[in-house]
Amino acid sequence: MNSMDLNPVVRLGMVLGALLCLLPMAGSAAEPEAPVFRAGAARANITPPLGCDIVGNFEVPKATYVHDDLHVRCLVLDDGTTRLALVLCDNLGVDQNVFDEAKRRLQELTSIPPEHILMAAIHTHSGPAARVSKCPGGYGEFTAYQQFMVDRIVDGVQCAITNLEPAQIGWGRGEEPSQVNNRRWHLSDPALMVSPFGAQDQVRMNPPRAHAALVEPAGPTDPEIVFIAVRSVDGRPIALLANYSLHYVGGVPGGHISADYFGAFADRIQQLLGADRQEPPFVGMLSNGTSGDINNINFRVPTPKREPYEQIHRVANMVAAEVFRVYQTVEFKDQAKLGGRLARLTLGVRKPDEAQVQWANEILAKPEAEVDIVKRSYAHRTLNLLDCPDHVDVWVQALRIGDAGVAGIPFETFAETGLRLKAESPLPVTFTISQANGGFGYLPTPAQHELGGYETWLGTSKVAVESEPAIVDTLFRQFAELAAE
Ligand SMILES: [Zn+2]
Repeated sequence: MNSMDLNPVVRLGMVLGALLCLLPMAGSAAEPEAPVFRAGAARANITPPLGCDIVGNFEVPKATYVHDDLHVRCLVLDDGTTRLALVLCDNLGVDQNVFDEAKRRLQELTSIPPEHILMAAIHTHSGPAARVSKCPGGYGEFTAYQQFMVDRIVDGVQCAITNLEPAQIGWGRGEEPSQVNNRRWHLSDPALMVSPFGAQDQVRMNPPRAHAALVEPAGPTDPEIVFIAVRSVDGRPIALLANYSLHYVGGVPGGHISADYFGAFADRIQQLLGADRQEPPFVGMLSNGTSGDINNINFRVPTPKREPYEQIHRVANMVAAEVFRVYQTVEFKDQAKLGGRLARLTLGVRKPDEAQVQWANEILAKPEAEVDIVKRSYAHRTLNLLDCPDHVDVWVQALRIGDAGVAGIPFETFAETGLRLKAESPLPVTFTISQANGGFGYLPTPAQHELGGYETWLGTSKVAVESEPAIVDTLFRQFAELAAE
């Protein structure tokens, strides 16, 4: 039977019945509907062609092999009023103008304002260059890869928006102290702590392993793993964004493209959550916390023998196992207040003094074979800074995701800065994403600057010594505002 066989009165009754079904059944007509919390996630491939430069070390080999693809991983959250986008790029560090352009286009296409979009690099040391500016803030034309990255970020966020669905959100906090080590050490032998400029430092980055001169690390580690998880209303995992303060793992053969342990974590947590081959696909994300002075090397013991990628999988599996353990206890909620603040901060650019300029010129005047690669690199960096503008404008960002506060700092930030933000934040749980909204090198605290060492050297550290406290103060102001909303 079809409706054409029915008499007109019966047909009218069926139409009215169907219309009534479309009206909201709960509450009176005057009562506004409660806002629905939604989440969507997506990733976009950003693997470059073979033959590109692999950056992250003093040597720059050409890419000869793709071990695992590089991605932009995107999470979009919507509380019914405010929409946030979090974007992680499988890259070492990205110039601010690349992220700015992606944000500009996203605002045009999706109406999400820049203060509600956080973009960051995970800091793999096995990928192509997306940070090419010689001066802090001095940008030229985009390279082909930078333009490609902009396009893929914009694609990824739009796909995440397409995947938005009613969702629940929760957070958890675990620990993995065994894989984080402070890499700046006090040593008993001053000869082991001389800078390329010939100055006497008080600490050394990456001292010789199991060496008799090791005294103690110059700073703390942050063993915490924080995560935010979103799932569909029937319990299907949508995405999980974790944060751990470990620089990277490495153990990747030269010329390989890899997302390091960040990519391996994303795969492993997907497997543990039973979220393989889902529709839409689950997106695992591991952001880089405050790891400017933290690495995966236990300096007290000799180097263990490892196969390529073995340590990457060991660490990724450990971090994912801890997240999965805590995941069982997460209290998922139907709503989370979202918010964001973005501030423009003007920082001084460090400049070489006359003696340093003279040293650099002397180094570069010598035949290349006579000077080691580190000294030559710092001589170039010293002269570059001489020609740079005196100031640079950087973004400092804070997001609120329910109980959680997320700080975005465009530097390789030290663990003690992250620990302070966690301890003094007004929100119940707080973490920092480094290399966010740009990349301007290391951000030692003023006390660590006093000690010297690699991260503080002119050219590694490019902004004024008092930059760290200025950034932290800004973040506390932003968190206070967000917590009061
Ligand atoms: Zn690094």
